[in-house]
Amino acid sequence: MPQDLLREVWGFDDFRPGQGEIVQAVAAGRDVLAIMPTGGGKSLCYQLPALMRDGVTVVISPLIALMRDQVRSLREAGVAAGALTSGNTEAETGEVFAALSNGTLKLLYMAPERLASGATVPMLRRAGVTAIAVDEAHCVSQWGHDFRPDYLRVGDLRRALGVPLAAFTATADAETRDEIVARLFDGRAPQVFLRGFDRPNIHLAFQPKDNPRRQIMDFAAARRGQSGIIYCATRAKTETLDAALNAAGIPAVAYHGGMEAEQRREVEGRFQREDGLVVTATVAFGMGIDKPDIRWVAHADLPKSIESYYQEIGRAGRDGAPAETLTLYGPDDIRLRRTQVDEGLAPAERKEADHGRLNALLGLAEATACRRQHLLAYFGETSDPCGNCDLCDNPPELFDATQPVRMALSAILRTGEWFGQGHIIDVLTGTATDKITQRGHDRLPTFGVGKAVPKGEWQAILRQMLGRDLIRPDPERHGGLRITATAHPVLRGETPVTLRRDLVRRARPDPVVRAQVDDEDAPLLSALKAKRRALAESQRVPAYVIFPDRTLIE
Ligand code: ADP
Ligand code: MG
Ligand code: ZN
Repeated sequence: MPQDLLREVWGFDDFRPGQGEIVQAVAAGRDVLAIMPTGGGKSLCYQLPALMRDGVTVVISPLIALMRDQVRSLREAGVAAGALTSGNTEAETGEVFAALSNGTLKLLYMAPERLASGATVPMLRRAGVTAIAVDEAHCVSQWGHDFRPDYLRVGDLRRALGVPLAAFTATADAETRDEIVARLFDGRAPQVFLRGFDRPNIHLAFQPKDNPRRQIMDFAAARRGQSGIIYCATRAKTETLDAALNAAGIPAVAYHGGMEAEQRREVEGRFQREDGLVVTATVAFGMGIDKPDIRWVAHADLPKSIESYYQEIGRAGRDGAPAETLTLYGPDDIRLRRTQVDEGLAPAERKEADHGRLNALLGLAEATACRRQHLLAYFGETSDPCGNCDLCDNPPELFDATQPVRMALSAILRTGEWFGQGHIIDVLTGTATDKITQRGHDRLPTFGVGKAVPKGEWQAILRQMLGRDLIRPDPERHGGLRITATAHPVLRGETPVTLRRDLVRRARPDPVVRAQVDDEDAPLLSALKAKRRALAESQRVPAYVIFPDRTLIE
């Protein structure tokens, strides 16, 4: 149920670290003190439980601007929320009181100053308040830098209403914590959530797909005898990988949402009991798994978001012993995830936010320094380089890619932002295909400016540009690449771009037969995919469609 609300109301796939447990405790009516870094996602930890509980949750928050922001976005998501602040118009206040008296309001935001009025507590009692949430709870601490005397009234409010209270802050020091407990909970111990997000025993690594089947098989084979999970983007892939592993003598079993419940339980049971079993699974696998000694987690395809990535790798090494992870990603993943966002039913702002979240994950995939530092920074935690990730193991060589990036941007602009990667690379490398000559693109000043750079390297440069959100495929133009606002300062020569050399230099010829397919040639692509599927099914062997740019599609 919390998961459904998370998806339906907020449009998030997964909880952030810590959120799930806190939501559960708050929804169950416990007194809670949660300490989470800024940006960690505290608001959701009281907003979501408010929807699960009867009655109104009062939210004490220190800033009018903050309250108005939250109320606006909750309302946009269809949640009955309101605020009583000194910034309200009379009409707004009237609306809030109306919603309170007819019992429809779920969240009522209020500044602590309002508690000074003798009328407030009786009003809240009549309104059926069933819980209190205190945001920025360190404001109750006299020693803190943000002391707000009116926060001291919150304790009185809790006593008067006799309802559970959940307090949230990013300030982790023990003195502040003790003071919050003393003043808000009268010293009665609340359930405290204070957990860093870091899981230092988990080794982090990403690799671009260059022969994805072999990359995954090698990773699994090197860990023979250890329990592991391989997450796949599709049900079909869980089955083909399962077959390939067993054929290689690695005990494996597939798991996905299309299987009978009984079969799924059987797999869960086997995984729990047997040592060294590999489960090839979709994201359906994991919720109910409580196995402390999972030694590795691999992603055969890019996860949906950093939140999903964190949850999925977090299933490894719960016993604290070293655990390893590997996440593969390729241009086909990026295309797939972009298309899923664009073709979804979400409103425009949410799609924008989903693209942003995908960009964040791509940024992590192609990070230039310590991957864990990057990951923790996304959740609001600062840290030192970890020494337990692929980028700490082998710091990547960086290079100033401003020149080639500007060349690519200008080739995209000169061709009117209508074309996919393949065509742009043809322009850059001066490859006079029929499509190029028919459109007169061989007469552009950018034609052939990037001749010195091999196509495979252009491929990697464009992928890193996608990851940095300098360019984006436009669904309205069949995936034609467009330039984003991030690219403008680069085009104007104001911002340099640094890229990873190793990602650019790894492209190498592929031994397998190639099909001449252009990115944009959708009907041919789906025909090839169908053929690939038929081949894989009839022969029970993996089969690939290979593009001129060496993208593999399984
Ligand atoms: P805090 O109050 O802890 O500083 P916020 O509640 O303001 O953090 O959340 C920070 C950001 O994280 C917001 O943009 C929010 O939408 C986003 N966020 C929160 N929870 C999730 C989640 N489960 N998945 C994705 N994004 C989330
Ligand atoms: Mg906050
Ligand atoms: Zn590191």
